[in-house]
Amino acid sequence: MGHCRAPLRNESQTLDHPSMTSKVAPLHAKVLDAEARLFDSEPYYEPIGEEIALFEAAYASCLPVLLKGPTGCGKTRFVEHMAWRLKRPLITVSCHDDLTAADLVGRFLITSSETVWVDGPLARAVRLGAILYLDEVVEARKDTTVVIHPLADDRRILSMEKRGELLAAPPEFLLAMSYNPGYQSVLKELKQSTRQRFVAIDFRYPDADLERKIIETETGIDVATADQLIKLARMTRNLKGNGLDEGASTRLLVHAAKLIARGIAPRAACHGAIAEALSDDPEMLRAIDELASSLF
Ligand code: ADP
Repeated sequence: MGHCRAPLRNESQTLDHPSMTSKVAPLHAKVLDAEARLFDSEPYYEPIGEEIALFEAAYASCLPVLLKGPTGCGKTRFVEHMAWRLKRPLITVSCHDDLTAADLVGRFLITSSETVWVDGPLARAVRLGAILYLDEVVEARKDTTVVIHPLADDRRILSMEKRGELLAAPPEFLLAMSYNPGYQSVLKELKQSTRQRFVAIDFRYPDADLERKIIETETGIDVATADQLIKLARMTRNLKGNGLDEGASTRLLVHAAKLIARGIAPRAACHGAIAEALSDDPEMLRAIDELASSLF
């Protein structure tokens, strides 16, 4: 272990921000460079099953990990928690439809006097022995699989063709990706040749007791309000496929609870943090507002 060769440029800052009043300590992460974070305090995470043991075993076996589940159910927080547990830096890339293999690997940049090579996040992560988290990987361009595949199987190499360099990943390096099967369409499906390289961990919304605990811990809100938010979430989750692409995630409940904790009336908080986040359709917005009014 101990592949963090990068100098620590920015120590975590002490922030004087209203969020400091929340019960949860802010995440203290040393920023190793523009992208890599090293957590020196524990990111709060409530396990929903055996995911911690599974991730640790995959890491020890040098097997990449695929986190499957709807948005806002704790996948990113889980990876942050695991980076802290395993004491590895974390580099996160939010994938989008313009993201190319070169964006991940790196490219030559021409300055006024010279041409310099700049590592992309994937190359940085391999060199650092970091955890690389590709969030919503199906969004990325198809050519990214060319660099992901050799890293995700026994070879564990990153081919930096333009630079004429082959990087072998140290055992500390781990590739993790998230994928939301709910959004699945023919265009946005993860190919078998990609998915079969990964150990998959299935994420779902936590059960009511766990979700209550998460909302309380994250926001300091009272149990009664947390319970009503959870009921509202259940109702919207039942609307999935009937006018809604997704129901309210734990993330949205945490957002609404944060607003309520700051004195926003519950109905207004639910409208802003939940209804508007789920839909633009006036009828659906009205329906969610009515559900919220029946509870608050
Ligand atoms: P995802 O990556 O799946 O879209 P996140 O990890 O960003 O979701 O989760 C969204 C928010 O929900 C987190 O910031 C946290 O407040 C809360 N959350 C969800 N699940 C958990 C969990 N199991 N433990 C702690 N917090 C959670």
